[in-house]
Amino acid sequence: MLHSRILLFLFFTLNMFSNGPIAKTDTLSRKAILKLTAEATDNLSAFKFEQSLATARVALRYAINRNDDYLVAKSYNTIAATFEALSEVDKAIFYYKKGLAYADKSSNDTIKSSLNNNIGNIYCFELNKLDEGVNYYKKALEYSTKIDDTRGIYITKMNIAWAYFYRGNFEKGRPYLDFINKHQSDYGGKGTIVALNMLNGMYYTNKLELDKADSFFKNAIRLGNEGNEKSDLSYAHQEYANLLKKKGDYKKAYENLVIYNSIRKSLEDSDKVKRANIVGVNLELDEYKRKVDTIENEISLQYLSLQKSRVIVVLFIIALTVVLLLLYSVYKNYSFKKKINADLIIANEKLFIAKEKAEEASYLKSQFVSTISHELRTPLYGVVGITNMLLDEHKELADSPHLSSLKFSARYLLSLVNDVLQINKIEENRIVLESLTFNMSDEINLIKNSLSFIAKSHDNHINVVIDPSIPEYLIGDKLRFSQIIINMVSNALKFTNNGEVTIKADLVKIENKAHFIEFNIQDNGVGIAEEDQEKIFDKFVQIGRKEIDYQGTGLGLSIVKRLLELFNSTISLKSKIGEGTTFTFTIAFDHDPAKSIELINKIQVDLTSSEIFKILVVDDNKINQLITKKIIEKNNYKCIVVDSGIDALEILETETFDIILMDINMPLMNGFETTIRLRQKGIVTPVIALTAFDKDEIIEEALSAGINDIIIKPFEPILLFKTINQLLYEENETELV
Ligand code: ADP
Repeated sequence: MLHSRILLFLFFTLNMFSNGPIAKTDTLSRKAILKLTAEATDNLSAFKFEQSLATARVALRYAINRNDDYLVAKSYNTIAATFEALSEVDKAIFYYKKGLAYADKSSNDTIKSSLNNNIGNIYCFELNKLDEGVNYYKKALEYSTKIDDTRGIYITKMNIAWAYFYRGNFEKGRPYLDFINKHQSDYGGKGTIVALNMLNGMYYTNKLELDKADSFFKNAIRLGNEGNEKSDLSYAHQEYANLLKKKGDYKKAYENLVIYNSIRKSLEDSDKVKRANIVGVNLELDEYKRKVDTIENEISLQYLSLQKSRVIVVLFIIALTVVLLLLYSVYKNYSFKKKINADLIIANEKLFIAKEKAEEASYLKSQFVSTISHELRTPLYGVVGITNMLLDEHKELADSPHLSSLKFSARYLLSLVNDVLQINKIEENRIVLESLTFNMSDEINLIKNSLSFIAKSHDNHINVVIDPSIPEYLIGDKLRFSQIIINMVSNALKFTNNGEVTIKADLVKIENKAHFIEFNIQDNGVGIAEEDQEKIFDKFVQIGRKEIDYQGTGLGLSIVKRLLELFNSTISLKSKIGEGTTFTFTIAFDHDPAKSIELINKIQVDLTSSEIFKILVVDDNKINQLITKKIIEKNNYKCIVVDSGIDALEILETETFDIILMDINMPLMNGFETTIRLRQKGIVTPVIALTAFDKDEIIEEALSAGINDIIIKPFEPILLFKTINQLLYEENETELV
């Protein structure tokens, strides 16, 4: 027996839409699809199953294309309902559930309520699963209550009552019957009136209130015949037959059953069903196609994701390789750095050792140079002194080429030793310029005189041209200045024959106390070739030395250049082969008028003395003793010589001297020690150290020992007497004060 219950559909007012043909495009507006679903529902209500399915199929296709869950659910609802009407229960359930799946994805509670209600019908009336069916009904009630859909609530409650009555459970159905009875006029509407009367008829039949039931059934049948609810009319006849059976009116019961059958037959017209089934097959084909599409889609998605995963795997492998390579390079780098560091540490250690060795070597070198020069100077002092003595004592030997050769060689050796010592000191930055007041003009003239011997031997004339605006007294290192001028002038004289050498000094600038004086040492000698002009300032460089006989060590210009650097000055030259050379440099000397006046006053004192001074010479070297004694006695002074410090202290116990000349380097007791001791004894006699040591090296120790002055051997006799006179004069002055 077929029980088609009250289905729920959504009805829309679609008057605004035209009824024109559907465009054969893949997309259709939402409203047009809604119109199609409404059309399908109308067809179903009119039992036009074929049209209903065809229209719903089109609506479904467009709804799917639009990806509209609500419209898809709605289309499935109509399709399922049509199949239900065609007694295709399995298909009906299948499409209802599909619809419900889409409905659940949408936010529309009306469609959710409809589908649950319709599934409830199938479970209760077709599958005999009352409880499950009622559950669906209750879900439908939840949704319709939520959106306050009173008609939906009414229909679902009517279906529940019917389902319970259909299963003979009248008590459970009773509350629902009461509800629908109460709200018929406001919620129920026309379409439910036949069913309502029929349900009351069923209830009262069960209650055996047969007359009451009879009246309800008659009402139902009357209204059914007047309206469109033919299906409900058929059920009303069927249930009425049950009542008539109970009454024992079998004839009428039979008649009603005949009417029931004829109505159902007209509804389930076999042709209609056939045609509808053909459409239904198409629909199923669609469904299969969709399934195939979905599967293909899934496959292609899987393929894509596989592709993606492949790409990801490849990328991962590449990234991993890169990371591994990076790690490897970091590791390599690290081990390389470690190795380099280790190498560096070793190199550093080596460098440190090398530096220490170099420092030690440098120290040893300077020690060596100073020791050697000291050791050389002492015998040279002897050689030069004895040569002089020989020449003095044997005038007939004055022209002896051997003797003059000896003298030349000794002097050459001496200047070499002095130059080496000088350059060594400069290179070790051991020279600090002094600031002494001196008369520049006097100094230059002194140099001119002392070099007159070389000038004569080369038939040269020396001119001195001094700018009168240069102050008479300047402050600076007179000794180093003289050294520069001597070197320059002696070079000019050596490389000029029968010519002129001019020493020119000009005041070029004054800045506060500093007087900038430009010196030009000019000659008209052999000249220096352009390509040699830079080289000549290097150590031991001598140009065109072979043939010409002149003296020199190749250190002169190198010393000059370095000394000038100490004066913050540089040297330049202009020269042409065969025409001569001019060297130029500028030195800034301070000028202090007050100091100059003081000095002038001092110089006016007459230092010449006719007194005969008594001098003690303390020296262990016999040759030196001899030479010094000769020099002193030549100046008519009295000289007593002792061999050692001890002897000196002894003689000083009994005798007094005006001056003591003290050698420093002596065995047992050196010059410093001897002086300290004699000072301890209260002897104040001025002590002059006569030494082959460099003055700078011993000056501090000498002064602290009580030595008054130092003279470096070999010395010019005049320097010795000048120093002696100066000390004695100072002594007299302090005595006077
Ligand atoms: P030395 O004079 O001992 O040879 P220097 O360093 O003083 O060493 O000079 C280096 C070289 O420069 C000399 O050998 C000489 O060739 C050249 N020289 C220096 N001064 C002059 C000058 N006034 N005229 C020509 N040549 C010069």
